[in-house]
Amino acid sequence: MNETMDYRQVYVDAHAHLDEYPDTWLGVVLQQLEDERIATISTAMAPGSYERALEIQQRCPWVCATLGVHPWNAQHFVAELEAIRPSLEGSPMLGEIGLDFRNVRDRSLYDAQVRVLEFFLCAATSQDKVINVHTSGAEAEVAEMLARHNIRRAIIHWYSGPIEPLKSMVSRGYLFTFGCEILSSGLIQSIASEIPKEQVLTETDNPGGPQWVFGEPAMPDLVKPVLQALSIVKGLDEADMMEQVRQNMDRLIGDDERLYGLSRLLRGSLE
Ligand SMILES: [Zn+2]
Repeated sequence: MNETMDYRQVYVDAHAHLDEYPDTWLGVVLQQLEDERIATISTAMAPGSYERALEIQQRCPWVCATLGVHPWNAQHFVAELEAIRPSLEGSPMLGEIGLDFRNVRDRSLYDAQVRVLEFFLCAATSQDKVINVHTSGAEAEVAEMLARHNIRRAIIHWYSGPIEPLKSMVSRGYLFTFGCEILSSGLIQSIASEIPKEQVLTETDNPGGPQWVFGEPAMPDLVKPVLQALSIVKGLDEADMMEQVRQNMDRLIGDDERLYGLSRLLRGSLE
């Protein structure tokens, strides 16, 4: 391979959980990332899963592992956030982080969610890092917190909320991922149509996302039908949509040296 490698051959999976695949799947999954050239951000939902994601990253250059504490796990880590700080500094991006007031019905857990998110947002601001954010049922609250912390670069994962917080986050320049639900959901398709093409990304949320939507986990090449569906909504042909998504991710990274590995993949200079 050399510098003439075609940029258009790179897919982007901006939100997946590779550490959640069973060991028996991982070999095939990682081989597919290489064969299909899918640059993948593997967002950990807890420190333990980050350790596993780092091991997976060692095995495959198409993986970028990032540390987060998912809102579903917030109550387990809220009292030990300082212990996370050293690994957090090494993480090139922060996520999956966020709030979830839709799937978490017990309101007594919300305070822990907010405190964990505050902790990560302070770190994101002081370290000037990209964040990968979950907003289910707490879209306005997340939008307010990101604005208050002056978050500059964010990937908003699988947005499915009301229009006002969406508009506010679009106006702040954040990027929005679309995954398998765009194949079947009119709501998700209409959200995609509201967002400028310069601010969309593709994702799989593998393996749990497709498990939730289809009843079974998917392989990384799920990103292909997702890209196709997104291209239809945005009125672009598929190759142009693919290039647009590549450029969007590349622009988000900018000259952030901590994401150099990812940026080399996107710029076709891996080897
Ligand atoms: Zn996720």
